[in-house]
Amino acid sequence: MVGSFLNVCIIRLPKEESIIVPGSHCPHCKTHIKFYDNIPLISYLLLGAKCRYCHEAISIQYPLIEGIAAVSSLLLFIKFGPSLSYLFYFSFVAALITITVIDLFHQIIPDVISLPGIGIGLLASLVIPHQTFFNSLIGTLCGGGSLFLVATLYQWWFKREGMGGGDVKLLAMIGAFLGWKSVILTILLSSLIGSITGIMIMVLKGKDFKYAIPFGPFLSVGAVISLFYQNEIISWYLQFKG
Ligand SMILES: [Zn+2]
Repeated sequence: MVGSFLNVCIIRLPKEESIIVPGSHCPHCKTHIKFYDNIPLISYLLLGAKCRYCHEAISIQYPLIEGIAAVSSLLLFIKFGPSLSYLFYFSFVAALITITVIDLFHQIIPDVISLPGIGIGLLASLVIPHQTFFNSLIGTLCGGGSLFLVATLYQWWFKREGMGGGDVKLLAMIGAFLGWKSVILTILLSSLIGSITGIMIMVLKGKDFKYAIPFGPFLSVGAVISLFYQNEIISWYLQFKG
């Protein structure tokens, strides 16, 4: 059900539409979707991936996001159990899923998600056992500050924008939720995955270095990997230092 709501956000936020009204409707024939045709994942299968009224194909995006949200919820529940931390990190991952898809399709990261996200991350660090306010605050400053510096230097050196302000606010949000160690790990992981993907795109499609790929999805993937495997990766790294 959360995944279903994320689909609404993904489609309506870039158009600056309300995420509450109107209710769910077919994007093709505009017919209101009855509750029994609006069951996450199941309705898609029962309807044979077609609208009941106009028979237009339903985008694979709907069940895909619903499935990803369900799997994320399950994995976080296994990691954190029935706790406040589970709710906190599930809302974080839900925000990252939404940001990733919107950034992929529209090359924007909506402030309406990242800015409240920074506030929620900082406030929640006061109550959840896995985080301290100090760690969250340093994470926010580290995340936002480092990317702001990179963006400013790039713009000054190459005389064009290399990284959007949206990425800066997203990494500040990641820092608020995960703290400073994870935010550094997120930067390393997302740069690594982003570089490999960028090089692959250049080789496969023959694009040059100026070809723009959104960075938000890589930051999100890096953040999720650090959320799950931070301790394992850091201890793996430290063993080389003896
Ligand atoms: Zn329809």
